[in-house]
Amino acid sequence: MAHSLMTTYAPLPISFAKGEGVYLWDTTGKQYLDAVAGVAVCGLGHAHPVIAEAIAEQARTLVHTSNLYRIEHQEALSERLCALSGLDNVFFSNSGAEANEAAIKLARLYGKQRGIERPNIIVACGSFHGRTLATLSATGNRKVQAGFSPLVDGFVRVNFNDIAAIKTAADTNSDIVAILVEPVQGEGGVQIPDADYLQQLREICDANNYLLMLDEIQTGMGRTGEWFAFQHTNIKPDVMTLAKALGNGVPIGACLAGGKAASIFTPGTHGSTFGGNPLATRAALTVIDVLSQENIIDHVKTIGEYFLTALTQKLAHLSTVNVIRGKGLMIGIELDYECTHFVAAAAEQGVLINVTAGNTIRLLPPLIINQAQADEVINTVTDLIQQQTG
Ligand SMILES: *Cc1c(COP(=O)(O)O)cnc(C)c1O
Repeated sequence: MAHSLMTTYAPLPISFAKGEGVYLWDTTGKQYLDAVAGVAVCGLGHAHPVIAEAIAEQARTLVHTSNLYRIEHQEALSERLCALSGLDNVFFSNSGAEANEAAIKLARLYGKQRGIERPNIIVACGSFHGRTLATLSATGNRKVQAGFSPLVDGFVRVNFNDIAAIKTAADTNSDIVAILVEPVQGEGGVQIPDADYLQQLREICDANNYLLMLDEIQTGMGRTGEWFAFQHTNIKPDVMTLAKALGNGVPIGACLAGGKAASIFTPGTHGSTFGGNPLATRAALTVIDVLSQENIIDHVKTIGEYFLTALTQKLAHLSTVNVIRGKGLMIGIELDYECTHFVAAAAEQGVLINVTAGNTIRLLPPLIINQAQADEVINTVTDLIQQQTG
């Protein structure tokens, strides 16, 4: 790797020259089936012709003007996102961490309005919310925080999927103003909470005047088989953050708010130079068009079930397989050993997979993956695990 790059990553010695759909080709011409999709970003696959054309046309027309002026595509995108989610308004950022920063700032202002001088936000162990100082402080992973103290104050940590712990925190801490969780923990290993978890969080938030804030940066935009993962339940959050798949690779994040949370920010309380620019919002508008016109979210439900059933059938009986978890196309295979080496081994065979939390193979393929392509991923992963099990 070039010495002039800061070593914040340890990339595989592979560089891709082009992509099409679920496939990538490296600089030597080798083809890969991409079951990572740029970490849940390229939901519509690589070089989608409709998205590519929209980006190109927008680039020829207008890329950036700043938020000192109205931006038509930004307004249209906010309308679409609110209609899809049932929330009321949107702030646009350029990344997931920035969307969460907006949510954290919004929660603190909300607390101040309620007369709480030192507002606290409940967050979960095993969570991931980003790499900025506030979002790494919210993140429930010591490795992400190591070396960066003093951390940002005001986060109260509880175990994920532990309602009793939240009730205890609520009973003993009068400074709490919000709960921030992922509906399914992604980096934490595809951790799926009990079916009534969000419902119970909603009830606790309502009883205590907390904001329920869902980080849907990884789960949103169809990944779990609904537009947003909270739509598997009957509840609505007060705040929801999006990024990753929203622009299919064009950087964009969003912080949505509803009800009482929708009137917290006023001119001057938050901002972004690039946020919601014509290029990014045109890309995201087109992503939404394609997702709805091609019924892709229904497809995610079907193909996600197919993945889960096949993987369970082929792997669940192995003693080294702890558990197989999945919601739509967010799939985790937790092994009883450290399996980071599978990433390079699978790439060798032309399939890109991810390993998270050390022992969990995570599959996040493009939402457009078909059954034959799913079989290729399933067979590669099954072979790797079986060979290792011996
Ligand atoms: C990726 C991710 C983030 C951070 O997004 P960035 O765009 O990398 O800042 C935050 N929360 C969740 C759940 C994520 O998956």
